[in-house]
Amino acid sequence: MSSPNVIVIGAGPSGISMAHTMKHKLGFTDFTIYEKLDGVGGTWRTNTYPGVGCDVPTILYSFAFNLNPNWSKELCDGPEILEYMEATVDKFDLRKHMEFSIECLGANWNEETKKWDVRFKDLKTKIEFVRCAAVFISAVGGISYPRDVKFPGMEKFKGAMFHTARWDHSYDYEGKRMAVIGNGCSAAQVVPAVVKDVASIKQYARSAQWYHERPNRNFSKAETWAFRYIPLWERWKRLQLFLENDDLVTTYMPGAEATTKRAKVEDHAKRYIFSRAPKKYHNVLVPNFPLGKECTNSQAPALLTIDLSGCKRRIFDPNYLDALNEPNLELLPEGIQEFDETGIVSESGRKEEFDVIVLATGFQVQRFLTPMEVFGKGKNRLNQQWKEQGGAQAYMGTFVHGFPNFAIL
Ligand SMILES: Cc1cc2nc3c(=O)[nH]c(=O)nc-3n(C[C@H](O)[C@H](O)[C@H](O)COP(=O)(O)OP(=O)(O)OC[C@H]3O[C@@H](n4cnc5c(N)ncnc54)[C@H](O)[C@@H]3O)c2cc1C
Repeated sequence: MSSPNVIVIGAGPSGISMAHTMKHKLGFTDFTIYEKLDGVGGTWRTNTYPGVGCDVPTILYSFAFNLNPNWSKELCDGPEILEYMEATVDKFDLRKHMEFSIECLGANWNEETKKWDVRFKDLKTKIEFVRCAAVFISAVGGISYPRDVKFPGMEKFKGAMFHTARWDHSYDYEGKRMAVIGNGCSAAQVVPAVVKDVASIKQYARSAQWYHERPNRNFSKAETWAFRYIPLWERWKRLQLFLENDDLVTTYMPGAEATTKRAKVEDHAKRYIFSRAPKKYHNVLVPNFPLGKECTNSQAPALLTIDLSGCKRRIFDPNYLDALNEPNLELLPEGIQEFDETGIVSESGRKEEFDVIVLATGFQVQRFLTPMEVFGKGKNRLNQQWKEQGGAQAYMGTFVHGFPNFAIL
């Protein structure tokens, strides 16, 4: 029997880990990774906006098979992470298994060959083609397609406008009047990074966020030396960080203990917000929703679960609250009514003029695997199956019933 071949889609951190596992843990080399970008790194290649960085300690946000003693600080910036991803791919000789600027359009399970027919488009030549594989693995990540919002009159605006994930580096924002729409993690990183260079920023934010303190310190030479030369020192630090971060997850759990913990974390966040942000914003900054609220599971009424709908990902503050003290920054706690040629009219009818509008509107997080269309046994469409089941479901988050030899990372 011939050995199976594998197709992986996506060369972000997940695709790189998968490639390393196949090649160096399993000794298996008959695999190809197809990536729509022009190189590796996924999120860290796509997102190049000012201030982009990790909000998880980078010693933890590293490949277990390639710890890096050279991280410059506790929470590293995007370019340093991307460089690490590139270096990892070269160190483990994974690049020759990768093809770039190729987008996967979808895949069909072929009942006759018992293989996957995977459809691709070469983004340079626009040529579409099919490759077959015994095993088909999706490593496309959850947030690689920006959420493109449509506001009335948007097409009329004559200035510059781009999404944070498509930052236009040819545009010089120095001394310009900037609007930032949104106040999620990307906005919280962009605003402090540009506030001192622009003439003004007006930030539109419809609802509040939980901001948490997260200082970021450069590693000293002694620490770097220790990471490099003291055996297992970095692994020990990583274990500590893992346990600390894992403990944060319990904030979202049901039960009395978690409720008490949640209240403590919320209280701490409130006090942090009050200590950093100007008083005039205190009311609009503190959320009126909990970090997570308990509810009963409709399929298993005896079980308490945590309902995160209406709640948001908490923000580990990258100096955003401090930036709110800058005199050229104004936070407008309202949405957008419409755009016109010169600017934005907000929901309250206030008109502001801008040179550049930054859309910090996030990503298409609800539409798993899109725009890929995956058809399994009986030509079942994956997204249709999930819709009928009431949401995305996979065994161990990886394998889906009726989709043989298909895995989701
Ligand atoms: C701005 C930003 C900051 C973040 N910060 C953190 C953080 O601090 N800590 C943290 O834990 N997480 C963070 N994340 C989440 C981050 O996405 C994950 O940590 C990590 O990158 C996921 O890796 P991945 O390989 O699964 O997905 P990705 O990094 O998204 O990589 C997926 C790859 O698949 C490719 N792809 C997608 N669809 C196709 C297709 N149809 N055909 C071909 N290729 C395709 C994409 O181009 C991409 O290169 C952040 C995300 C963003 C956007």
